[in-house]
Amino acid sequence: MTGRIVLRWSGVASIEGDMLERVRRDVEAAFALPTDLVIVDGLPPDSLDVRRCQHSSTKLLRWILTSMPPEATKVVGITDVDLFIPVLTFVFGEAQVGGSAAVVSMARLRLLANGRTAAPALVETRLLKECLHELGHTFGLVHCPDNGCLMSRSNSVLEVDQKRTAFCRDCRQRLRRLQEEGKNHER
Ligand SMILES: [Zn+2]
Ligand SMILES: [Zn+2]
Repeated sequence: MTGRIVLRWSGVASIEGDMLERVRRDVEAAFALPTDLVIVDGLPPDSLDVRRCQHSSTKLLRWILTSMPPEATKVVGITDVDLFIPVLTFVFGEAQVGGSAAVVSMARLRLLANGRTAAPALVETRLLKECLHELGHTFGLVHCPDNGCLMSRSNSVLEVDQKRTAFCRDCRQRLRRLQEEGKNHER
């Protein structure tokens, strides 16, 4: 497998302890690709929607794309601001299907269904799941009907918690094929 993944933190508050480093290590293992962690200050100048008090995930994605590290083939922006796309109240993240960039927000992952703060270990598992999900999209995977699969669509934290931290057999096979095809295109 060739390629290099970059996890790129750009948030408002500081991140909990070594969470990002552990997520980096797990992403590296999941895709068998070298994965780096980059910390970037600030957010794009145009992503905040003052009326909604949320950031446009599409604008964040565009910003991430304009500053791709040259060695990276996939970049996942991780942020703590709440993200939206116009038709939805919020999104956990957004990705270019078959592209090179994705974005994941921790804002909702930090909360329990009753609005209280989730334990750090749970937040970390959720963040890993969402990073793997969005990266799956960038490799060309689409949503999966298996509720337990990483590629199933999540509309709530309960649905995120329902997923295993693994792709189902079908998605795993498809991912392997897509990664192989990507490698052939690079030749
Ligand atoms: Zn998705
Ligand atoms: Zn699946």
